[in-house]
Amino acid sequence: TVPDDAPWLKGLNPEQHQAVTTLDGPVLVLSGAGTGKTRVLTSRLAHILASGRAHPWQCLAVTFTNKAAREMRERVAQLVGPAAESLWLGTFHALCVRILRRHAELVGLKSNFTILDSDDQLRLLKQVMEAEGIDPKRWPAQAVMGTIQRWKDRGQVPAKVGGEGGELAGGRMPEIYRLYQERLRVVNACDFGDLLLHCLTLFLDRADILAEYQEQFRFILVDEYQDTNVAQYLWLRLLAQKHKNICCVGDDDQSIYSWRGAEVGNILKFEKDFPAARVIRLERNYRSTPHILAAASHLIAHNQGRLGKTLRPGLDFPEGESVKVRVRGVWDGPEEARVVVDAVETHQRAGQALAGMAILVRAGFQTREFEERLITTGVPYRVLGGPRFYERLEIRDAMAYLRLVASPDDGLAFERVVNNPKRGLGDAALQMVHMTARAKGLSLFEAARLLSETDELKPKPRAALAGFCADIIRWRGDLELVGHGPLAARIIDESGYLAMWKADKSPEAPGRVENLGELIRALGEYESLEQFLDHVALVMENDNRDDLDKLVIMTLHGAKGLEFDRVFLPGWEEGVFPHQRALDEGGLAGLEEERRLAYVGLTRARKSLLITFAANRRIYNQWQTALPSRFLDELPDAHVEREAERGFHAGGATQWRKPAEIDTWQVAQRPAGTDFDPGDRVLHAKFGPGTVVAVDGDKLEIAFDKAGTKKVLGSFVELM
Ligand code: ATP
Ligand code: MG
Repeated sequence: TVPDDAPWLKGLNPEQHQAVTTLDGPVLVLSGAGTGKTRVLTSRLAHILASGRAHPWQCLAVTFTNKAAREMRERVAQLVGPAAESLWLGTFHALCVRILRRHAELVGLKSNFTILDSDDQLRLLKQVMEAEGIDPKRWPAQAVMGTIQRWKDRGQVPAKVGGEGGELAGGRMPEIYRLYQERLRVVNACDFGDLLLHCLTLFLDRADILAEYQEQFRFILVDEYQDTNVAQYLWLRLLAQKHKNICCVGDDDQSIYSWRGAEVGNILKFEKDFPAARVIRLERNYRSTPHILAAASHLIAHNQGRLGKTLRPGLDFPEGESVKVRVRGVWDGPEEARVVVDAVETHQRAGQALAGMAILVRAGFQTREFEERLITTGVPYRVLGGPRFYERLEIRDAMAYLRLVASPDDGLAFERVVNNPKRGLGDAALQMVHMTARAKGLSLFEAARLLSETDELKPKPRAALAGFCADIIRWRGDLELVGHGPLAARIIDESGYLAMWKADKSPEAPGRVENLGELIRALGEYESLEQFLDHVALVMENDNRDDLDKLVIMTLHGAKGLEFDRVFLPGWEEGVFPHQRALDEGGLAGLEEERRLAYVGLTRARKSLLITFAANRRIYNQWQTALPSRFLDELPDAHVEREAERGFHAGGATQWRKPAEIDTWQVAQRPAGTDFDPGDRVLHAKFGPGTVVAVDGDKLEIAFDKAGTKKVLGSFVELM
């Protein structure tokens, strides 16, 4: 009953057409990036509604993010009108909440149950552990929580975990899990993992309710299927059992969430559990130029654990419109930011909208250098999926320490850090500080100092305050002696603030530690602490207007499923990308997941890609030589144009060699002698800036600003 020229069928290739119109029975679409999987799902929803095979509320569609759900709903609405409003369309979590609110009492909750964030979750667990006498020093609550979450990701309720959990919590993990779940019920709350788990429990306990939903959902559609976990898979399988009209689309090469419990094996299970499944492979990529496509395909071919698939260009690109992927080596981070932002501005001048461009980073801390440069040059930007660098919690905290050291009268800064990390200061003690300050017209810091010398407070909080004030005063004294960069490092260390995040086992904690390192690094770029604080105050003022055309900055993980005309991929260095933690903890599997992440990054681009790496990175206050990422070796020469920045040396270019000869590229060394004269200002990779004192062939004697006078090789020195 749907005409062949229906708008959602127009322009589809035969395989896509088949995937959209094969409504009966299970369908698995397995194909590479940009082959139209998401578009197929959108068209399929329109097709189902238009064909009259189901009412909108009889269609269940799962997306990976809320944003993707919104976009899909809008597009379906454009195609078939307001019926799209009543679709069951959202993330697994959103859909489960909707079901659970209706039947909460059947899983022991009230319908107004709250959903806990990770802080509250942990607090609750700590209470349980304390009541059970589990030593949190020996068994950190975060580790216990990690195990519980893994069980939930696999759909295991407490009764199903048997003797698992090993030594953790003194071998009492299953019991702790059970008690934690009981506690959640008592406070009428769920954690995120519960949303699926309770839904599963509901379906398994109440065949009648399951049957209703099975009857209701005539069509089930799932995007980004490769990143579903076991609990989600079980949920889908239960719901699809009656009508079996389930269509999943995914790409095993884009599975990047195994650290959150995703199991790419679900793709293989699908064909087993739905033996009649029609498997459709889409091979034409409609997103990227042939060069980008070839680069991405080549890279991912280095992974061993793949199902394997072909990817061909689906669009016609006139000669010259497909430019090679650019790889560019730069001297250091600031130069990288300069190069990328220059490129952004060049595209902008040529008429490219900023919103069509994105900088995709491996780790959150990398955004800082780009944000600084964008603010300096006045290019509007937005950080998607997280706060801007200086708005992040740990950065605000650390900045408050610095502000307090710079000006102890800063009351807001005082409040933010006086008991952060916890120093055993209760509300009563802090109220006393406030009261004293008001009564005597003192700053909070002065009031605290006074109270630490009198007997108003109990000995413990008094000692805590005294210690805190003494620290601040000591750091102030050190400011002149050690310089603001090293001092900042000392402050976050000695205050216990860094240690607090290092001990934290939540998934965000390592990123926060990295951000703190980046903050210290940023400080090194400023003359004084005051100058830095002023700078940040100005940065924070950067307008937040939403109506501007803005460049996008986000992580690679967040960019899944999205596309941009121009994509910038900075920081392709060993240790940054592939990320050191993935290599250390994940071995070969970790490396392969990093490579899939690189593949996701490359395949976000429609028209052009610029990949950059720096020869030097400042880590805390030390310069370190960085090695180009091994992934750069894995890009095919025929589709890549490699350039090195002048910063490497005055003479030639970076030598790009084949991996067979050498497994990382060497930066070509400067020809001996000739380039330097006494008096030249130079920058050394390790010792920083200095002045040339004497020249002897390629050997230089340099008086470094910080490191004293040293003999070094000219090849590691750059003219400033
Ligand atoms: P990813 O794996 O990154 O999620 P995908 O397979 O979901 O990618 P889509 O985002 O659906 O791919 O499609 C990629 C781009 O190609 C979109 O801009 C889409 O509109 C376009 N596209 C898809 N199919 C066609 C087609 N038959 N003709 C022209 N353009 C198409
Ligand atoms: Mg998609």
